[in-house]
Amino acid sequence: MSKTIQAIRGMNDCSPTETLLWQWVETQIRQTFASYGYAEIRSPILEATALFERGVGEATDIVEKEMFTFVRDEESLTMRPEGTAGCVRAAIQNGWIYNQEQRLWYIGPMFRYERPQKGRYRQFHQAGVEIFGIANPEADAELILLTARLWEKLGIRQHVKLQLNSIGGLEVRTQYRQALVAFLQNHLDVLKQDPDSERRLTTNPLRILDTKNQALQNVLNHAPKLHDFLDPESKAHFEKLCQILDQMGIEYEINQKLVRGLDYYNKTVFEWVTTALGAQGTVCGGGRYDGLVAQLGGHASEGVGFAMGLERLILLVQEVNPNVTLPRPVDIYIVYSGEGTTEAAFQLSETLRNALPQQRIMLHCSGGNFKKQFKRADKSGAKLALVLGESEVENQTVVVKDLFGEAEQITIPQSELINELQSRLA
Ligand code: ATP
Ligand code: MG
Repeated sequence: MSKTIQAIRGMNDCSPTETLLWQWVETQIRQTFASYGYAEIRSPILEATALFERGVGEATDIVEKEMFTFVRDEESLTMRPEGTAGCVRAAIQNGWIYNQEQRLWYIGPMFRYERPQKGRYRQFHQAGVEIFGIANPEADAELILLTARLWEKLGIRQHVKLQLNSIGGLEVRTQYRQALVAFLQNHLDVLKQDPDSERRLTTNPLRILDTKNQALQNVLNHAPKLHDFLDPESKAHFEKLCQILDQMGIEYEINQKLVRGLDYYNKTVFEWVTTALGAQGTVCGGGRYDGLVAQLGGHASEGVGFAMGLERLILLVQEVNPNVTLPRPVDIYIVYSGEGTTEAAFQLSETLRNALPQQRIMLHCSGGNFKKQFKRADKSGAKLALVLGESEVENQTVVVKDLFGEAEQITIPQSELINELQSRLA
């Protein structure tokens, strides 16, 4: 026997039973996005590497070490590690955001070369939203309200907390960066204990703020505060956002150390975090990126958006909402045996699919006696079995059998079947 081939490390299969929960979560996402009037876009998984270098930023974890990149026909290509850069590229290229507002969303696989663990994979899935052309904090607020509504639908609202911050404009961050670096230069001994942070002192000092190193965190509690550097416009923007959230009853914690990993953010940044998943606690992150469109060569347009990780959301739903009712994979299972029953069963199943398009109707195709067929019917999880034997075909009747309940099996004319099924499956 030849050796079996395994999936790539950190890239998972989704089983026929797991996809039921995935589909349910995706449906809640689609319905929520649609209920705010947002439109779906689809863009390629492969993009020019330069898009992410310029769009995400050279000094980010993603570009420094996480991208799946290869060369084809002398062109460097990258499997998208996130959705915003590709969305902006597509929006510019197709003129979707030229002098107009857009509220867009996407869903799909992303790829990052990270150490696989619970909630962290090399192929994972994000759903994200991007609003273009609206400078006002109302857009930021709407995104947060939308996510809160989704958490409610998923039954995880009580298990996620909103962290909120403003990181101001570019000048603010330049000034703050200088102050932070000057402060950290007096604590090089502690900084040395955390090589990633030490390296970031020159490449991306703000990222040091979300180090997991406790000693360094203690030092950072005494560091200069970002909000002491905020420009009046960013301050007003943030205050208005907080005001709307207060008015709408959305609780949040202002976390001045929250800067997010990507270079393109300005003003608002936020994360929804949970303590129920261990180390991988961020289920959704986003913020404002008013400079990104111009930076990628487009006609300047403000942007604000977020992305959420579907694997982490699904783990959280499984953890805290185990009672979610998923659709049964099969509702009605049709068994048949005897002369002339094959055609009758095919006819009946197609007629039922016309009349009851919401029901999942499975036809037994693999022969055998009724005993074997009923075993299959039970295994399918169907609520009802329909039985066609020679006498039923001859008399234009059908047997209806309840596979779960106590109800007696009955024989009825085929002409009454649709009404019978409608009342039983309601
Ligand atoms: P983390 O700090 O956990 O690495 P991140 O800041 O890199 O997250 P983002 O780039 O903001 O994550 O992506 C948005 C969301 O996508 C995250 O909040 C998370 O839910 C999900 N996500 C990111 N990377 C992964 C991954 N490797 N596997 C599974 N989900 C991921
Ligand atoms: Mg990451």
